[in-house]
Amino acid sequence: MTVREILHVGNPLLRQVSREVTKNELASTQMQTLIDDLIDTMRAANGAGIAAPQIGELVRIATIEVNANPRYPYKPKIPLTIAVNPVVEFLDDELVDVNEGCLSVPNMRGNVMRHVNIRVRYWDRHGNEYDEVKRGLTAGTFQHELDHLDGVLFLDKVFDTTTLTTWEQFERFHRAAFIERITEFVQRVGS
Ligand code: ZN
Repeated sequence: MTVREILHVGNPLLRQVSREVTKNELASTQMQTLIDDLIDTMRAANGAGIAAPQIGELVRIATIEVNANPRYPYKPKIPLTIAVNPVVEFLDDELVDVNEGCLSVPNMRGNVMRHVNIRVRYWDRHGNEYDEVKRGLTAGTFQHELDHLDGVLFLDKVFDTTTLTTWEQFERFHRAAFIERITEFVQRVGS
């Protein structure tokens, strides 16, 4: 188990576009170890996901997992997913206003508009191909992680900077209203 250092906003590597990996490369010990490190680092930090550039590796790989997460107790569960070379397609124009945080942006949250219905195509760690529809907050989590592969942080998409809060101030002033709104949304959308 290797928990790697998570890069923080300001590190230029977080702003690079990551490259795709080939199936041969993916099978290598080096790439498989990287995936194990991503999982270990994500879990140690209680993240809902992490992308390879967040640990300084500029390849298009992200891991996602939501499992009774104390950072995001309202998020529907997502089984451990390894997304290699993921491609997202927006299925319609429906958007939801989601309060997000990021392991690379310590102690900050803000509101971002995310597509509610997306199609995502990716390989798992063994190169098996997936083509899935994701909805609701789960779709938002995928969009957040996949943005990292293009050097994009949630901060870039905060449309109203007055929604920026520290985690402590979020708990104090904003959590109750957000939980109420997003719980209604999750019940309606189902994920
Ligand atoms: Zn992030």
